[in-house]
Amino acid sequence: MVQNGTKKLYYKDTHQIDFTATVLSCKAAETADMILVELDQTAFFPEEGGQKPDAGFIEDFPVLDVQIRGDVIVHALPLDAWDICQVGATIHGEVDWNQRFDFMQQHTGEHIISGLVHSYYGFDNVGFHLGYEEVTMDFNGMLTLEQLRDIEKMANQAIYQNLPVIASFPNRQDLAEMTYRSKLNLVDNVRIVRIPGIDVCACCAPHVDSTGQIGIIKIIDVQSHRGGVRINILCGKRALQDYNKRLDCVTDVSVLLSAKPLEIGAATKRLKDETQAKQERINSLQASLLNQKIDFLENTYKDKERPKHIFLFESALDAKAVRDAINRLMPLYEGYCGIFVGSDETGYTFVIGSANLDCRELTTALKEKWAAKGGGAPQMVQGNLTASHSDVLLYLETL
Ligand SMILES: [Zn+2]
Repeated sequence: MVQNGTKKLYYKDTHQIDFTATVLSCKAAETADMILVELDQTAFFPEEGGQKPDAGFIEDFPVLDVQIRGDVIVHALPLDAWDICQVGATIHGEVDWNQRFDFMQQHTGEHIISGLVHSYYGFDNVGFHLGYEEVTMDFNGMLTLEQLRDIEKMANQAIYQNLPVIASFPNRQDLAEMTYRSKLNLVDNVRIVRIPGIDVCACCAPHVDSTGQIGIIKIIDVQSHRGGVRINILCGKRALQDYNKRLDCVTDVSVLLSAKPLEIGAATKRLKDETQAKQERINSLQASLLNQKIDFLENTYKDKERPKHIFLFESALDAKAVRDAINRLMPLYEGYCGIFVGSDETGYTFVIGSANLDCRELTTALKEKWAAKGGGAPQMVQGNLTASHSDVLLYLETL
């Protein structure tokens, strides 16, 4: 095993992506089909401090994972990399620069936001996650949208100023006198990342050289989280990609609504209001049709005997119309008055009322026969079932 740990080339130069190194050890992973390789030095940043590991290649093999164990950095390679994994062999590694730079843009952006939140509101970043698509940070205090907009504005101001991002390992005395975020109990080898006037923080990760390289910092979401807030940010290229996606989305909606892109909110509101008005008109027409059906039945019962029960099937009817109809029918019929709304394919919702019988008994029967769901009071029950109209009607006629 390595005695003095793996030399971290990314501390010397975060832009170094090519490197050669000597294989110190090599073994099969216990839990997956991978080889775990230790090198004397590496440019690969491991999974650490809430950040995912660097990607890239060692010789022709993709680096599947990079983990840190104490002072040693372990690279996971596919099983067919055994040939290059001879102890003492010299290998060539290459870090995926696009991912490295993307991670650096996000991570330095996070420091700027966290430093500003700490300076202006005194809250700490108590949770940080930097994934391949999402960057979240948790603060132990509430922040309003307006406050976060101010923070975002100042963060982007720090980008326009193109401030240097300085990493150093202060000696014990300097460290003891220093005020910085993420203060650790350690006194040796604490890496401090400083952005003048914005933030000082203990951190192990690679950062951009100067804030201008971040390009833009955008807060895209905020939600309450354990007494504080969790915010999502996008920096640099991720923010541009997100902007393009949102622009495509707005353009599509704008074309569909025949409205200018910045007026789609008002156009959608109009559309929603129109749809609601149409739905109300449909509801009223359906209720009127049902009432006409009941009027027609009432006419026929002038000359012949009224049946004990009445069950009506409708394809669509809103809840109020159903209730109104049941209330109209209940005084007219001695037995059950039921309305079933739906179709054989989607199933039926039903409301059954009765002035004299216990409707729960009928629900129990429907539950036994078709696994209907529902319940209610003796005078009125509601529920749903899936069965064919003809089967249900055949059964109800036996009552
Ligand atoms: Zn950091």
